[in-house]
Amino acid sequence: MRTIIGLEVHAQLLTRTKLFCSCSADYFGAPPNTHTCPVCLGMPGALPVLNEKAVEYALKAALALHCEIPQRSIFARKNYFYPDLPKGYQISQYEEPLARRGYLDLPTGKRVGIRRLHLEEDAGKLLHTDEGVSLVDFNRAGVPLIEIVSEPELNSPTEARLYLEELRRILRYLGVCSGDMEEGSFRCDANISLVAPSSGGRMGTKVEIKNMNSFRAVEEALRFEERRQQEILARGEVLLQETRLWNDKTGQTEPMRGKEESEDYRYFPDPDLVPLQIDDAWRESVRESLPELPAQKRARWAQDYKLPEYDIAVLTEERSIAEYFEAVVRLYNDPKDVSNWMMSELLRLLKESQTTEIPLPPEHFARVLQMVNAGQINRTVAKAVIEESFKTGKAPDEIVQEQGLSQISDERALAEIVTKVLAENSKAVADFKAGKEAALSFLQGQVMKATKGKADPKKTRDLLLQKLREP
Ligand SMILES: [Zn+2]
Repeated sequence: MRTIIGLEVHAQLLTRTKLFCSCSADYFGAPPNTHTCPVCLGMPGALPVLNEKAVEYALKAALALHCEIPQRSIFARKNYFYPDLPKGYQISQYEEPLARRGYLDLPTGKRVGIRRLHLEEDAGKLLHTDEGVSLVDFNRAGVPLIEIVSEPELNSPTEARLYLEELRRILRYLGVCSGDMEEGSFRCDANISLVAPSSGGRMGTKVEIKNMNSFRAVEEALRFEERRQQEILARGEVLLQETRLWNDKTGQTEPMRGKEESEDYRYFPDPDLVPLQIDDAWRESVRESLPELPAQKRARWAQDYKLPEYDIAVLTEERSIAEYFEAVVRLYNDPKDVSNWMMSELLRLLKESQTTEIPLPPEHFARVLQMVNAGQINRTVAKAVIEESFKTGKAPDEIVQEQGLSQISDERALAEIVTKVLAENSKAVADFKAGKEAALSFLQGQVMKATKGKADPKKTRDLLLQKLREP
């Protein structure tokens, strides 16, 4: 049996205002119903005015996904009754969407078709209290969304996850969506069916899954559903075409009950909005504004920097981190060394301080690596200097000087310390002379301790060996 999966993503656009009014679209965490006006509340007579920035962002996404952009697209009313929808319809696009026939390449190299990408407005939100009362908050009503529909060309839950991760990465690189699944700014519905080899390629019964709030949830829901369908078909039973909800707590999909399953939305063109015209000049100017996208960056880095795939994946995940890496490499041209230091030290510090903005400029980071390379400081000191610079913004040279962290590579100074350590550790000396190689590491550790980590490790070792071998 072959698994066939298609995904439908709703991504909130990071515009300042809503899609058809001047209310702030930055609604998350705001008191209920404070970001509203007659337009997004659907008052009679209030007229929508299209937000040009939202069109530009949608175009960016569509072009990054290699879509065709027709000259004209149409806004349509999608009619359904639900309390979070004040107008009784949602303004969306249906027969003539903004973009179609694109594709996305997974990091594995597989190409997945994009059927369509269109603009629409978000609905409000219902809050159900413990007392059995339902409240409605319209702050989200009218926030711009793009809906991105893939072709049913994904063949496993893992591929579905890879697709979502790459799509999110692209939208974040473009700066058009925050991609936050928990806050609901990046949402995904899936459909899945199984095709038996004997069916002659005929599609199996399709089941839709909703209510997945993380990449992990999407993958697990699809895996559960794949198994459930396999078992039903293996028993020779008939699969019901339906919409099911993922339950994160039980780890199962459950049949959806009630109203949301609307059959006929009675779409028709919105008489309040003229057709959206996108001429060649506009389309091409947006195309030229696109940044280098994750897939291009990964390919170029493999070529230019010869980095392992793992390093490339980690460092290109966020555009700001990737650009930082390149800025450091321009100043200190040893990509693998820069990668190692960034992955171990910088990403740790960023994680600890729960920020994505790197407070120390690339110049400072590169300077620390130069100092290690020149033997001015050792690696232990370098870690401390990076951390200090990260926290205070001070230049590495200043930190090294202030705290007297320069590596001790002066032979005479080092020899004195080595002699002293040997005198104080006669047992280790005897052990070494009796053939215990491990005693050397211990003695080296003692020298490091005595110099607070500033001794040049290689010179220390050479000096120790020299003195231990003296008759
Ligand atoms: Zn409004």
